[in-house]
Amino acid sequence: MNPRVPRDRAPVPPVRPDGGRRDRVRGAVVGSAAGDALGAPFEFGPPGAFSARFPDGVGTLCGGGGWDPGEATDDTQMAVLVGQSLVECGGLELPDVFARFRRWAAGDPKDIGLQTEDVLTSGEPWDLAAALHFQVNARAAGNGSLMRASTSAVYFARRGRAATMAAARRLAALTHGDRAAWEGTAVLHELVRVALGGADPLAAVEAALAEVHPDHRARWADVLAPGWHPDDATEFNGAVWPCLGTALWALRTTTGFEGALAAAVDVGGDTDTVAAVTGTLAGAVHGLGAVPERWTRTLHVPLPGHGDRVLRTADLVALADRLDESAEIPIPDTYI
Ligand SMILES: [Mg+2]
Repeated sequence: MNPRVPRDRAPVPPVRPDGGRRDRVRGAVVGSAAGDALGAPFEFGPPGAFSARFPDGVGTLCGGGGWDPGEATDDTQMAVLVGQSLVECGGLELPDVFARFRRWAAGDPKDIGLQTEDVLTSGEPWDLAAALHFQVNARAAGNGSLMRASTSAVYFARRGRAATMAAARRLAALTHGDRAAWEGTAVLHELVRVALGGADPLAAVEAALAEVHPDHRARWADVLAPGWHPDDATEFNGAVWPCLGTALWALRTTTGFEGALAAAVDVGGDTDTVAAVTGTLAGAVHGLGAVPERWTRTLHVPLPGHGDRVLRTADLVALADRLDESAEIPIPDTYI
């Protein structure tokens, strides 16, 4: 990087003239991180806190609640780890992803989901830890596998619906033993895949639901229905169903990236993750060009346990590009 360019002013590579898809790929990854950082200061706050803080409608990554302005949280940190694993391994190597998660968890991140922490610090092997946790606790349908989906959604998108949804389920299962989380994560990946291809993800919900495990389809169909509203949620939005339902509602009821994220954060509750998921979808729809520059300028992602690196927007863009380009490399049938 040019040493004369301060790190917090890292330039974002220009979108290529032919880069409709490229802009959307970057939008999914950067948009998710921006949503995470936008929502973090409002986590566990009441509905309407965001619009009360920014009555003029021009929100900033303002920081607060222990977060620096522009600082992304565990959602984006884990998404980056997934993305780096996919690129560096040349495919889905679940033991490697789990090892990166464990190293990160041991690096004392500022925030980590309770369920994710239990699984990653249990000492159990990668292919048993989440299942054993679910056996004991019976509740494992948190939104923690939705929040880190942006990078894997980009990576698997070119491989088609079946490969995308299968990979999503396996990544979710690393930390979440409840199939409800696997199915929701698979739906999110599939909707992002559709959006990256330039189509409307809201029109693809029905086809995605048809691929959902029959035991879980009705409950997912309920929260993803066009008439669903966050007030209809039957759980706190730290659960997987209202989290994805709210993201779709925010996308459905707004016309741009910033408006979708503002709507998501204003719902309150688990605002960083709901906005990270919304940002994944809305970024894939509207593209990086729709992410406000006042957000990308300060956005940054610490990476505990991994040399304490801090990624900036330009680093996220580079990762997104590599994930999309890596998709030309076929993956073994065993992972499809
Ligand atoms: Mg978080």
